[in-house]
Amino acid sequence: MQIITIPVTAFAQNSRIIACSETKQAVVVDPGGDPDKIVAALNEHKLELSAIWLTHGHLDHVGGADILRNQFNVQIIGPQKDEYFWFENLPMQAQMFGFKPIEPFYPDIWLNHNDTVSVGKLSFLVKHCPGHTPGHIVFYQQDYECVIVGDVIFKGSVGRTDFPKGNSEQLIESIKTHILTLPDNTKILAGHGSDTTVGFEKQTNPFVSGKFG
Ligand SMILES: [Zn+2]
Repeated sequence: MQIITIPVTAFAQNSRIIACSETKQAVVVDPGGDPDKIVAALNEHKLELSAIWLTHGHLDHVGGADILRNQFNVQIIGPQKDEYFWFENLPMQAQMFGFKPIEPFYPDIWLNHNDTVSVGKLSFLVKHCPGHTPGHIVFYQQDYECVIVGDVIFKGSVGRTDFPKGNSEQLIESIKTHILTLPDNTKILAGHGSDTTVGFEKQTNPFVSGKFG
């Protein structure tokens, strides 16, 4: 498995190209913007884009998705369907976040908890982790021990819950149930900031370690 991280937008959102080293097929997870940078990376590594996967509907995670879908004729897969309103409200999000105007668009396929998605010979398990947003999902790859978490958890922090339909108790519950139960050396690939691990966050993250109430 090959992972290429491309920070996009003014929010430095970690867009990830995930590729099967054997087949050279790739997906891009959360192409929030700067689609040209993503295309350049695909070309540089001679990868074939097979789909676009989304963790949630915030503009800094999805802003480049429709452009790439049209350019490569691939499907947008995920998140879970409770996220619909964030796609419907993309024009409002553009104003709210100070992005250039965007028209609403929608995924081709909504995902559910325990669904499996594949790229080349790699399979990822989908886990529904609401709280930051209601339809937020994460993608877990067991063999390579990594989980792509969007804005659920960050190194030393957790996702905001002050947006519409955010819920802080639900977020902590999602993290404790679906992220911190993974093996300690599982790598956490977050939507912003550095990568971390399940074990490190269990020990040190003040929002979930219990050390700070
Ligand atoms: Zn978000």
